[in-house]
Amino acid sequence: MSEDQEGNSISHSERVTVVGVRHACPRCGSRDVARILWGLPAYSAEMKRELDAGELTLGGCVISESNPLFACNACRGRFGSIKRLD
Ligand SMILES: [Zn+2]
Repeated sequence: MSEDQEGNSISHSERVTVVGVRHACPRCGSRDVARILWGLPAYSAEMKRELDAGELTLGGCVISESNPLFACNACRGRFGSIKRLD
């Protein structure tokens, strides 16, 4: 099953990717925040660039509604959730 399960779960992290927005960390206020990419994304040069730049981090392959969406590079806190942004 490779198609999205509409409305039930988020199987493709691209669906919740927030582009062009850098969120501030609620714990320390830093804007050095990386998006967390859940699932098993297709590895690309663009993704590697974002990983190297600290704009993106990989969360793992287990996806649930409570998974955080962002990781703070300053305090290592994680915040946001797929559920809240939906
Ligand atoms: Zn922080």
